[in-house]
Amino acid sequence: MKITVVGTGYVGLVTGTCFAETGNDVTCVDIDVKKVEKLSSGQVTIYEPGLEKLFERNLKEGRLHFTTNLEEGISEAAVIFLALPTPPGEDGSADLSYILKVADQLGHLLKDYKIIVDKSTVPVGTADKVHAAIAKNATVDFDVVSNPEFLREGVAVEDFMKPDRVVIGTSSERARKIMADLYAPFVRQGNPVIFMDEKSAELTKYAANSFLATKISFMNEIAILCERLGADVDMVRRGIGSDDRIGKRFLFPGIGYGGSCFPKDVQALVKSSQTVDYDFRILNAVMDVNEAQKVFLLPKIESYFENNLQGKHFALWGLAFKPNTDDIREAPALYIIDRLLAAGATVSAFDPEAMPNVKQLLGDRIHFAEHQYDALDNADALIIATEWSVFRTPDFEKIRTNLKDQVIFDGRNLFESPRMQELGFHYESVGRQAVT
Ligand code: NAD
Repeated sequence: MKITVVGTGYVGLVTGTCFAETGNDVTCVDIDVKKVEKLSSGQVTIYEPGLEKLFERNLKEGRLHFTTNLEEGISEAAVIFLALPTPPGEDGSADLSYILKVADQLGHLLKDYKIIVDKSTVPVGTADKVHAAIAKNATVDFDVVSNPEFLREGVAVEDFMKPDRVVIGTSSERARKIMADLYAPFVRQGNPVIFMDEKSAELTKYAANSFLATKISFMNEIAILCERLGADVDMVRRGIGSDDRIGKRFLFPGIGYGGSCFPKDVQALVKSSQTVDYDFRILNAVMDVNEAQKVFLLPKIESYFENNLQGKHFALWGLAFKPNTDDIREAPALYIIDRLLAAGATVSAFDPEAMPNVKQLLGDRIHFAEHQYDALDNADALIIATEWSVFRTPDFEKIRTNLKDQVIFDGRNLFESPRMQELGFHYESVGRQAVT
Protein backbone atom coordinates (compact mmCIF):
# COMPACT_ATOMS: atom_id res chain seq x y z
CA MET A 1 0.00 0.00 0.00
CA LYS A 2 1.18 3.55 -0.61
CA ILE A 3 1.21 5.57 2.57
CA THR A 4 2.10 9.13 3.48
CA VAL A 5 3.05 10.26 6.96
CA VAL A 6 2.85 14.00 7.52
CA GLY A 7 5.13 15.06 10.40
CA THR A 8 8.35 13.10 10.77
CA GLY A 9 9.07 13.42 14.49
CA TYR A 10 9.12 10.63 17.07
CA VAL A 11 5.75 9.20 16.09
CA GLY A 12 5.92 9.97 12.37
CA LEU A 13 9.36 8.52 11.77
CA VAL A 14 8.64 5.35 13.73
CA THR A 15 5.23 4.95 12.06
CA GLY A 16 6.66 5.50 8.59
CA THR A 17 9.61 3.17 9.11
CA CYS A 18 7.51 0.38 10.62
CA PHE A 19 4.92 0.55 7.84
CA ALA A 20 7.77 0.37 5.31
CA GLU A 21 9.11 -2.67 7.17
CA THR A 22 5.87 -4.56 6.42
CA GLY A 23 6.25 -3.87 2.70
CA ASN A 24 4.39 -0.61 2.24
CA ASP A 25 5.76 2.24 0.16
CA VAL A 26 6.02 5.17 2.56
CA THR A 27 6.58 8.87 1.94
CA CYS A 28 7.29 11.04 4.96
CA VAL A 29 6.55 14.75 4.69
CA ASP A 30 7.96 17.39 7.03
CA ILE A 31 8.30 21.17 6.87
CA ASP A 32 11.69 21.01 8.57
CA VAL A 33 14.07 21.21 5.59
CA LYS A 34 17.14 20.17 7.56
CA LYS A 35 15.35 17.13 9.00
CA VAL A 36 14.24 16.01 5.54
CA GLU A 37 17.77 16.49 4.15
CA LYS A 38 19.27 14.44 6.96
CA LEU A 39 16.71 11.65 6.64
CA SER A 40 17.04 11.53 2.86
CA SER A 41 20.79 11.17 3.21
CA GLY A 42 20.39 8.22 5.57
CA GLN A 43 20.76 9.91 8.96
CA VAL A 44 18.20 9.03 11.64
CA THR A 45 17.14 12.21 13.44
CA ILE A 46 16.06 10.72 16.79
CA TYR A 47 17.51 8.14 19.12
CA GLU A 48 15.21 5.15 19.38
CA PRO A 49 16.50 1.61 19.98
CA GLY A 50 16.17 -0.59 16.88
CA LEU A 51 15.07 2.24 14.61
CA GLU A 52 18.33 2.80 12.75
CA LYS A 53 18.54 -0.76 11.44
CA LEU A 54 14.97 -0.73 10.15
CA PHE A 55 15.37 2.76 8.73
CA GLU A 56 18.56 1.89 6.82
CA ARG A 57 17.11 -1.31 5.40
CA ASN A 58 13.91 0.29 4.15
CA LEU A 59 15.65 3.36 2.79
CA LYS A 60 18.06 1.13 0.89
CA GLU A 61 15.25 -0.98 -0.50
CA GLY A 62 13.45 2.12 -1.74
CA ARG A 63 10.39 1.83 0.48
CA LEU A 64 11.05 5.05 2.44
CA HIS A 65 11.05 8.52 0.89
CA PHE A 66 11.25 11.99 2.38
CA THR A 67 10.03 15.31 1.08
CA THR A 68 9.04 18.79 2.19
CA ASN A 69 6.43 18.99 -0.55
CA LEU A 70 2.98 17.96 0.69
CA GLU A 71 1.42 17.86 -2.77
CA GLU A 72 4.11 15.57 -4.11
CA GLY A 73 4.13 13.54 -0.89
CA ILE A 74 0.44 12.65 -0.95
CA SER A 75 -0.16 12.31 -4.67
CA GLU A 76 -0.14 8.50 -4.77
CA ALA A 77 -1.07 7.67 -1.19
CA ALA A 78 -4.10 5.62 -0.25
CA VAL A 79 -3.73 6.55 3.43
CA ILE A 80 -2.33 9.80 4.85
CA PHE A 81 -1.29 9.74 8.51
CA LEU A 82 -1.09 13.02 10.40
CA ALA A 83 1.64 12.70 13.05
CA LEU A 84 1.81 16.41 13.76
CA PRO A 85 2.47 18.20 17.05
CA THR A 86 -0.46 18.99 19.34
CA PRO A 87 1.33 21.07 21.99
CA PRO A 88 -0.50 22.76 24.84
CA GLY A 89 -1.98 26.08 23.81
CA GLU A 90 -1.81 29.09 26.11
CA ASP A 91 -4.65 27.83 28.29
CA GLY A 92 -3.39 24.22 28.37
CA SER A 93 -5.83 22.83 25.83
CA ALA A 94 -4.39 21.01 22.80
CA ASP A 95 -3.29 23.36 20.03
CA LEU A 96 -4.82 21.98 16.84
CA SER A 97 -3.36 24.60 14.51
CA TYR A 98 -0.74 22.24 13.00
CA ILE A 99 -3.37 19.63 12.21
CA LEU A 100 -6.01 22.00 10.91
CA LYS A 101 -3.50 23.84 8.74
CA VAL A 102 -2.49 20.62 7.00
CA ALA A 103 -6.15 19.55 6.77
CA ASP A 104 -6.93 22.82 5.06
CA GLN A 105 -4.09 22.26 2.58
CA LEU A 106 -5.21 18.70 1.93
CA GLY A 107 -8.64 19.94 0.91
CA HIS A 108 -7.04 21.71 -2.02
CA LEU A 109 -4.76 18.81 -2.92
CA LEU A 110 -6.94 15.67 -2.85
CA LYS A 111 -7.53 14.34 -6.36
CA ASP A 112 -9.00 10.93 -5.52
CA TYR A 113 -10.38 9.03 -2.50
CA LYS A 114 -7.99 8.93 0.43
CA ILE A 115 -8.13 8.11 4.11
CA ILE A 116 -6.77 10.80 6.39
CA VAL A 117 -5.74 9.37 9.76
CA ASP A 118 -5.29 11.39 12.95
CA LYS A 119 -2.36 9.69 14.63
CA SER A 120 -1.60 12.69 16.80
CA THR A 121 -3.18 12.83 20.24
CA VAL A 122 -6.19 15.06 19.73
CA PRO A 123 -9.25 16.05 21.77
CA VAL A 124 -12.67 14.55 21.21
CA GLY A 125 -14.27 16.11 18.18
CA THR A 126 -11.06 16.66 16.21
CA ALA A 127 -11.91 14.10 13.51
CA ASP A 128 -15.04 16.16 12.81
CA LYS A 129 -12.98 19.36 12.67
CA VAL A 130 -10.43 17.78 10.34
CA HIS A 131 -13.26 16.50 8.16
CA ALA A 132 -14.81 19.95 7.99
CA ALA A 133 -11.47 21.65 7.23
CA ILE A 134 -10.81 19.28 4.31
CA ALA A 135 -14.40 19.31 3.07
CA LYS A 136 -14.30 23.10 2.74
CA ASN A 137 -12.18 22.76 -0.38
CA ALA A 138 -12.29 19.10 -1.39
CA THR A 139 -14.00 17.96 -4.56
CA VAL A 140 -13.49 14.23 -4.00
CA ASP A 141 -14.64 11.65 -1.47
CA PHE A 142 -12.46 11.04 1.61
CA ASP A 143 -12.66 9.59 5.13
CA VAL A 144 -11.12 10.83 8.37
CA VAL A 145 -10.11 8.13 10.84
CA SER A 146 -8.91 8.44 14.43
CA ASN A 147 -6.04 6.06 15.12
CA PRO A 148 -4.28 7.20 18.30
CA GLU A 149 -0.74 6.01 18.86
CA PHE A 150 0.26 4.23 22.07
CA LEU A 151 3.98 3.72 21.46
CA ARG A 152 6.37 4.57 24.26
CA GLU A 153 9.56 6.45 23.51
CA GLY A 154 12.51 4.20 24.27
CA VAL A 155 10.68 1.08 23.06
CA ALA A 156 8.79 2.74 20.22
CA VAL A 157 9.76 0.30 17.48
CA GLU A 158 8.88 -2.73 19.56
CA ASP A 159 5.58 -1.12 20.61
CA PHE A 160 4.70 -0.27 17.03
CA MET A 161 5.66 -3.65 15.60
CA LYS A 162 3.87 -5.56 18.37
CA PRO A 163 1.19 -3.29 19.80
CA ASP A 164 -0.89 -4.40 22.81
CA ARG A 165 -3.84 -3.17 20.78
CA VAL A 166 -4.63 -0.95 17.84
CA VAL A 167 -7.50 1.48 18.28
CA ILE A 168 -9.30 2.61 15.14
CA GLY A 169 -12.15 5.07 15.26
CA THR A 170 -14.20 5.20 12.09
CA SER A 171 -17.77 5.06 10.92
CA SER A 172 -16.77 4.28 7.33
CA GLU A 173 -16.85 0.64 6.23
CA ARG A 174 -14.47 1.41 3.36
CA ALA A 175 -11.88 2.97 5.66
CA ARG A 176 -12.31 0.17 8.21
CA LYS A 177 -11.32 -2.50 5.67
CA ILE A 178 -8.23 -0.64 4.48
CA MET A 179 -7.08 0.11 8.02
CA ALA A 180 -7.60 -3.53 9.04
CA ASP A 181 -5.42 -4.67 6.10
CA LEU A 182 -2.72 -2.17 6.94
CA TYR A 183 -2.47 -3.27 10.56
CA ALA A 184 -2.92 -7.02 9.98
CA PRO A 185 0.85 -7.81 9.95
CA PHE A 186 1.28 -6.12 13.35
CA VAL A 187 -1.36 -8.14 15.22
CA ARG A 188 -0.59 -11.64 13.96
CA GLN A 189 -0.15 -12.87 17.53
CA GLY A 190 -3.79 -12.08 18.18
CA ASN A 191 -3.64 -8.73 19.88
CA PRO A 192 -6.87 -6.88 19.17
CA VAL A 193 -7.62 -4.21 16.62
CA ILE A 194 -10.44 -2.42 18.40
CA PHE A 195 -12.84 -0.61 16.10
CA MET A 196 -14.99 2.12 17.55
CA ASP A 197 -16.42 5.52 16.73
CA GLU A 198 -14.05 8.45 16.23
CA LYS A 199 -14.88 10.21 19.50
CA SER A 200 -14.34 7.12 21.64
CA ALA A 201 -10.99 6.52 19.92
CA GLU A 202 -9.92 10.09 20.63
CA LEU A 203 -10.91 9.82 24.27
CA THR A 204 -9.27 6.39 24.67
CA LYS A 205 -5.82 7.90 24.18
CA TYR A 206 -6.34 10.65 26.76
CA ALA A 207 -7.93 8.22 29.21
CA ALA A 208 -4.97 5.82 28.88
CA ASN A 209 -2.31 8.47 29.46
CA SER A 210 -4.25 10.13 32.26
CA PHE A 211 -4.77 6.81 34.01
CA LEU A 212 -1.05 6.02 33.84
CA ALA A 213 -0.16 9.50 35.12
CA THR A 214 -2.63 8.97 37.96
CA LYS A 215 -0.89 5.72 38.90
CA ILE A 216 2.44 7.55 39.04
CA SER A 217 1.18 10.46 41.14
CA PHE A 218 -0.65 8.07 43.46
CA MET A 219 2.54 6.10 44.11
CA ASN A 220 4.48 9.31 44.59
CA GLU A 221 2.08 10.33 47.34
CA ILE A 222 2.32 6.88 48.92
CA ALA A 223 6.11 7.36 48.82
CA ILE A 224 5.82 10.64 50.71
CA LEU A 225 3.71 8.92 53.34
CA CYS A 226 6.23 6.08 53.59
CA GLU A 227 9.01 8.53 54.39
CA ARG A 228 6.93 10.33 56.99
CA LEU A 229 5.51 7.21 58.64
CA GLY A 230 8.69 5.13 58.58
CA ALA A 231 7.56 2.61 55.93
CA ASP A 232 9.42 1.46 52.81
CA VAL A 233 7.75 2.15 49.47
CA ASP A 234 9.48 -0.82 47.81
CA MET A 235 7.75 -3.15 50.21
CA VAL A 236 4.40 -1.43 49.79
CA ARG A 237 4.81 -1.50 46.00
CA ARG A 238 5.45 -5.22 46.00
CA GLY A 239 2.66 -5.77 48.47
CA ILE A 240 0.04 -4.09 46.33
CA GLY A 241 1.44 -4.94 42.89
CA SER A 242 0.95 -8.66 43.34
CA ASP A 243 -2.79 -8.03 43.37
CA ASP A 244 -3.91 -8.67 39.78
CA ARG A 245 -6.45 -5.88 40.00
CA ILE A 246 -3.62 -3.41 40.61
CA GLY A 247 -0.79 -4.93 38.59
CA LYS A 248 2.97 -4.66 39.02
CA ARG A 249 3.69 -2.04 36.39
CA PHE A 250 3.82 1.71 36.77
CA LEU A 251 4.07 1.54 40.55
CA PHE A 252 7.59 2.90 40.86
CA PRO A 253 7.79 6.22 42.70
CA GLY A 254 10.27 8.82 41.52
CA ILE A 255 10.67 12.47 40.67
CA GLY A 256 7.57 12.76 38.54
CA TYR A 257 6.49 12.09 35.01
CA GLY A 258 7.73 14.22 32.12
CA GLY A 259 8.04 13.90 28.38
CA SER A 260 5.96 15.24 25.57
CA CYS A 261 2.82 13.26 26.37
CA PHE A 262 1.71 12.79 29.98
CA PRO A 263 2.00 16.44 31.09
CA LYS A 264 0.26 17.84 28.04
CA ASP A 265 -2.34 15.09 27.71
CA VAL A 266 -3.46 15.23 31.35
CA GLN A 267 -3.74 18.99 31.08
CA ALA A 268 -5.62 18.78 27.79
CA LEU A 269 -8.15 16.31 29.22
CA VAL A 270 -8.77 18.64 32.16
CA LYS A 271 -9.36 21.47 29.68
CA SER A 272 -11.65 19.31 27.53
CA SER A 273 -13.64 18.45 30.64
CA GLN A 274 -14.07 22.14 31.41
CA THR A 275 -15.57 22.75 27.99
CA VAL A 276 -18.42 20.43 28.94
CA ASP A 277 -18.77 21.91 32.40
CA TYR A 278 -16.97 19.17 34.24
CA ASP A 279 -14.21 19.66 36.77
CA PHE A 280 -11.97 16.56 36.54
CA ARG A 281 -10.91 16.66 40.19
CA ILE A 282 -8.64 13.62 40.21
CA LEU A 283 -6.57 14.91 37.30
CA ASN A 284 -6.14 18.32 38.90
CA ALA A 285 -4.59 16.56 41.88
CA VAL A 286 -2.46 14.37 39.61
CA MET A 287 -0.96 17.49 38.03
CA ASP A 288 -0.40 19.23 41.39
CA VAL A 289 1.38 16.20 42.81
CA ASN A 290 3.58 15.93 39.73
CA GLU A 291 4.60 19.59 39.80
CA ALA A 292 5.85 19.18 43.35
CA GLN A 293 7.44 15.82 42.61
CA LYS A 294 9.77 17.14 39.89
CA VAL A 295 11.70 19.06 42.55
CA PHE A 296 11.07 16.56 45.35
CA LEU A 297 14.80 16.05 45.90
CA LEU A 298 15.50 19.75 46.40
CA PRO A 299 14.40 20.09 50.03
CA LYS A 300 16.45 16.99 50.85
CA ILE A 301 19.50 18.47 49.15
CA GLU A 302 18.99 21.87 50.78
CA SER A 303 18.53 20.35 54.17
CA TYR A 304 21.70 18.22 53.83
CA PHE A 305 23.71 21.32 52.89
CA GLU A 306 22.09 23.44 55.63
CA ASN A 307 20.11 25.57 53.21
CA ASN A 308 23.16 26.95 51.50
CA LEU A 309 23.87 25.67 47.99
CA GLN A 310 25.94 28.73 47.01
CA GLY A 311 29.20 27.48 45.50
CA LYS A 312 28.25 23.81 45.79
CA HIS A 313 28.94 21.61 42.80
CA PHE A 314 26.62 18.76 41.80
CA ALA A 315 27.05 15.79 39.51
CA LEU A 316 23.82 14.94 37.71
CA TRP A 317 23.26 11.55 36.09
CA GLY A 318 20.39 11.55 33.62
CA LEU A 319 18.82 14.36 31.63
CA ALA A 320 16.28 12.61 29.41
CA PHE A 321 12.76 12.41 30.84
CA LYS A 322 13.15 8.63 30.89
CA PRO A 323 15.78 6.10 29.82
CA ASN A 324 16.47 5.01 26.23
CA THR A 325 15.48 8.30 24.68
CA ASP A 326 17.12 11.63 23.91
CA ASP A 327 13.83 13.43 24.54
CA ILE A 328 14.13 16.13 27.20
CA ARG A 329 10.67 17.66 26.91
CA GLU A 330 9.38 18.35 30.46
CA ALA A 331 12.27 16.32 31.88
CA PRO A 332 12.42 16.56 35.69
CA ALA A 333 16.23 16.95 35.42
CA LEU A 334 15.74 20.37 33.81
CA TYR A 335 13.66 21.57 36.75
CA ILE A 336 16.31 20.35 39.18
CA ILE A 337 19.05 22.13 37.21
CA ASP A 338 17.08 25.39 37.25
CA ARG A 339 16.65 25.25 40.99
CA LEU A 340 20.30 24.37 41.63
CA LEU A 341 21.61 27.16 39.40
CA ALA A 342 19.20 29.67 40.96
CA ALA A 343 20.58 28.72 44.38
CA GLY A 344 24.14 29.49 43.22
CA ALA A 345 25.30 25.92 42.65
CA THR A 346 27.06 24.51 39.59
CA VAL A 347 26.22 21.31 37.74
CA SER A 348 28.17 18.76 35.76
CA ALA A 349 25.81 16.43 33.91
CA PHE A 350 26.03 13.16 32.04
CA ASP A 351 23.40 11.42 29.94
CA PRO A 352 24.06 8.68 27.38
CA GLU A 353 21.87 10.28 24.68
CA ALA A 354 20.25 13.53 25.73
CA MET A 355 23.29 15.82 26.18
CA PRO A 356 23.17 17.40 22.68
CA ASN A 357 19.53 18.41 23.20
CA VAL A 358 20.25 19.92 26.62
CA LYS A 359 23.35 21.66 25.26
CA GLN A 360 21.12 23.35 22.70
CA LEU A 361 18.79 24.51 25.44
CA LEU A 362 21.23 25.50 28.19
CA GLY A 363 24.48 26.20 26.33
CA ASP A 364 27.31 26.54 28.84
CA ARG A 365 25.12 27.14 31.88
CA ILE A 366 26.10 23.65 32.99
CA HIS A 367 29.08 21.43 32.25
CA PHE A 368 28.61 18.29 30.16
CA ALA A 369 30.84 15.36 31.11
CA GLU A 370 32.19 12.93 28.58
CA HIS A 371 31.81 10.00 30.87
CA GLN A 372 29.45 9.31 33.73
CA TYR A 373 32.36 9.18 36.19
CA ASP A 374 33.91 12.43 34.93
CA ALA A 375 30.75 14.24 36.01
CA LEU A 376 31.61 13.33 39.61
CA ASP A 377 34.94 15.16 39.72
CA ASN A 378 34.97 17.53 42.70
CA ALA A 379 31.22 17.25 43.13
CA ASP A 380 29.71 17.68 46.58
CA ALA A 381 27.01 15.14 45.75
CA LEU A 382 25.60 12.99 42.98
CA ILE A 383 21.98 13.44 41.91
CA ILE A 384 20.28 10.75 39.81
CA ALA A 385 17.38 11.92 37.66
CA THR A 386 16.93 9.19 35.00
CA GLU A 387 17.06 5.41 35.43
CA TRP A 388 19.38 4.56 32.52
CA SER A 389 20.61 0.96 32.81
CA VAL A 390 24.25 2.09 32.84
CA PHE A 391 23.62 3.83 36.16
CA ARG A 392 22.15 0.75 37.82
CA THR A 393 25.31 -1.15 38.66
CA PRO A 394 28.02 1.51 38.72
CA ASP A 395 31.54 1.18 40.04
CA PHE A 396 30.90 2.44 43.57
CA GLU A 397 34.62 2.65 44.27
CA LYS A 398 34.98 5.12 41.41
CA ILE A 399 32.01 7.10 42.67
CA ARG A 400 33.60 7.20 46.10
CA THR A 401 36.99 8.40 44.85
CA ASN A 402 35.68 10.95 42.37
CA LEU A 403 33.05 12.55 44.61
CA LYS A 404 34.28 15.07 47.16
CA ASP A 405 31.63 13.94 49.63
CA GLN A 406 30.03 10.48 49.65
CA VAL A 407 26.51 11.78 49.11
CA ILE A 408 23.88 10.52 46.66
CA PHE A 409 20.35 11.83 46.07
CA ASP A 410 18.59 9.23 43.97
CA GLY A 411 15.35 10.30 42.32
CA ARG A 412 14.80 6.88 40.75
CA ASN A 413 15.53 4.45 43.61
CA LEU A 414 18.28 2.65 41.68
CA PHE A 415 20.10 1.20 44.67
CA GLU A 416 19.26 -0.77 47.81
CA SER A 417 19.53 1.45 50.87
CA PRO A 418 21.25 -1.13 53.17
CA ARG A 419 23.93 -1.72 50.51
CA MET A 420 24.54 2.02 50.22
CA GLN A 421 24.87 2.28 53.97
CA GLU A 422 27.36 -0.59 53.96
CA LEU A 423 29.37 1.18 51.28
CA GLY A 424 29.50 4.27 53.45
CA PHE A 425 27.33 6.61 51.41
CA HIS A 426 24.86 9.15 52.68
CA TYR A 427 21.98 8.01 50.48
CA GLU A 428 18.55 9.58 50.07
CA SER A 429 15.91 8.26 47.71
CA VAL A 430 12.14 8.39 47.23
CA GLY A 431 9.79 6.80 49.75
CA ARG A 432 12.54 5.07 51.72
CA GLN A 433 14.37 6.15 54.85
CA ALA A 434 17.64 8.03 54.34
CA VAL A 435 20.76 6.07 55.32
CA THR A 436 24.09 7.44 56.31
P1 NAD B 1 7.42 15.78 17.16
O1 NAD B 1 7.45 17.20 17.58
O2 NAD B 1 8.56 14.89 17.48
O3 NAD B 1 7.19 15.70 15.58
C1 NAD B 1 6.28 16.49 14.88
C2 NAD B 1 6.86 16.74 13.47
O4 NAD B 1 5.88 17.46 12.71
C3 NAD B 1 8.12 17.61 13.45
O5 NAD B 1 9.14 16.95 12.73
C4 NAD B 1 7.67 18.90 12.74
O6 NAD B 1 8.71 19.49 11.97
C5 NAD B 1 6.57 18.37 11.84
N1 NAD B 1 5.64 19.37 11.34
C6 NAD B 1 5.12 20.45 11.96
N2 NAD B 1 4.29 21.11 11.14
C7 NAD B 1 4.28 20.43 9.97
C8 NAD B 1 3.60 20.61 8.73
N3 NAD B 1 2.76 21.62 8.53
N4 NAD B 1 3.84 19.72 7.75
C9 NAD B 1 4.69 18.68 7.93
N5 NAD B 1 5.35 18.46 9.08
C10 NAD B 1 5.14 19.33 10.09
O7 NAD B 1 6.07 15.20 17.78
P2 NAD B 1 5.78 13.68 18.23
O8 NAD B 1 6.40 13.42 19.56
O9 NAD B 1 6.07 12.77 17.11
O10 NAD B 1 4.21 13.76 18.47
C11 NAD B 1 3.28 13.87 17.41
C12 NAD B 1 1.91 13.57 17.96
O11 NAD B 1 1.84 12.22 18.43
C13 NAD B 1 1.49 14.44 19.15
O12 NAD B 1 0.12 14.69 19.08
C14 NAD B 1 1.79 13.56 20.32
O13 NAD B 1 1.00 13.87 21.45
C15 NAD B 1 1.45 12.19 19.79
N6 NAD B 1 2.13 11.07 20.45
C16 NAD B 1 3.43 11.17 20.78
C17 NAD B 1 4.07 10.09 21.38
C18 NAD B 1 5.52 10.16 21.79
O14 NAD B 1 5.95 9.30 22.54
N7 NAD B 1 6.29 11.13 21.32
C19 NAD B 1 3.37 8.89 21.61
C20 NAD B 1 2.04 8.82 21.24
C21 NAD B 1 1.42 9.91 20.65
